[in-house]
Amino acid sequence: MNNINLSIVGSIGIDTIETPTQKREAILGGSASYACAGAAFFTTTGMLSVVGNDFPESYRNIFIHMNIDLDGLQTLEGKTFRWSGIYEENMDIRKTLSTELNVFERFSPLLPENYQYSPYVFLANIHPKLQLEVLNKVKNPKFVLIDTMDIWINSYKSDLEKVIKKCDMLTLNESEAKLLTKKENLLEAAKYLIKLGPKYILIKKGAQGSLLYSKNKYQTLNAFPLDRCSDPTGAGDSFAGGLIGKLAAINKININTITEAIIYGTVVASFGIEDFSLNRLKKLTLNEIELRVNEFRQINQI
Ligand code: AMP
Repeated sequence: MNNINLSIVGSIGIDTIETPTQKREAILGGSASYACAGAAFFTTTGMLSVVGNDFPESYRNIFIHMNIDLDGLQTLEGKTFRWSGIYEENMDIRKTLSTELNVFERFSPLLPENYQYSPYVFLANIHPKLQLEVLNKVKNPKFVLIDTMDIWINSYKSDLEKVIKKCDMLTLNESEAKLLTKKENLLEAAKYLIKLGPKYILIKKGAQGSLLYSKNKYQTLNAFPLDRCSDPTGAGDSFAGGLIGKLAAINKININTITEAIIYGTVVASFGIEDFSLNRLKKLTLNEIELRVNEFRQINQI
């Protein structure tokens, strides 16, 4: 059994995605898929999730190929989680067309022993009750990152706030930050969110980069400039996965190491959106990541 340095709970989905130019049906997606794919470049990463017995073997092999530990992945009788969405012209606005929870309605995370001692935990986008269940089963984690989505903010706000309180860092996108705080100004939103408990608030702004707020200070980081974006689905998950994977590898937490980790998250996400599903990430190498990190540093002079 491998020592798991980073445990990630989230969804594994079979997605149907429509962009202004293309449509892909039944492709591999889900917050845990993208997050683990981003993290496993840097550290031993275990996936806590569930699939149905319809889950294709070829998709499972992608996780294995990417060195993601699957001891925490359950297979239940029934259908895998399914989600479909459509992007508007500029790819910034997405509408969810359908969500079928399927096996997630019966999912109770079981943590193999080597996951229970993982110092780093990422509670990727999934029902806040499941996020809390996982967190309660990890013994003394060193650093916990949480992400969420509009449906949990709208319907399970008090469950969500209960779990956020126990986390070290909260990441969410601009519209989710405004929805959760009811504040239009992002700095005001970050100041409100920090009072919920986490020491670090990271607001994702898509192609505009991200804003990190901690200890009364904030800093912004650009996204990596790309002239091609095939599908932005999962960008937030691979960004956060890359970030916490790199942080777990550095294994030291302060504003400088977090900034360094954000650079790696930004770069991993920029590769992810070059193609649908995990198609680009599964071919990506650490060397390509390092080259783009250097390019990012040159562009931004950091
Ligand atoms: P993102 O683009 O970062 O919001 O992530 C999109 C991925 O999240 C897709 O691959 C979906 O399968 C998955 N997803 C969509 N809705 C949900 C939900 N309610 N809970 C968990 N995962 C979801």
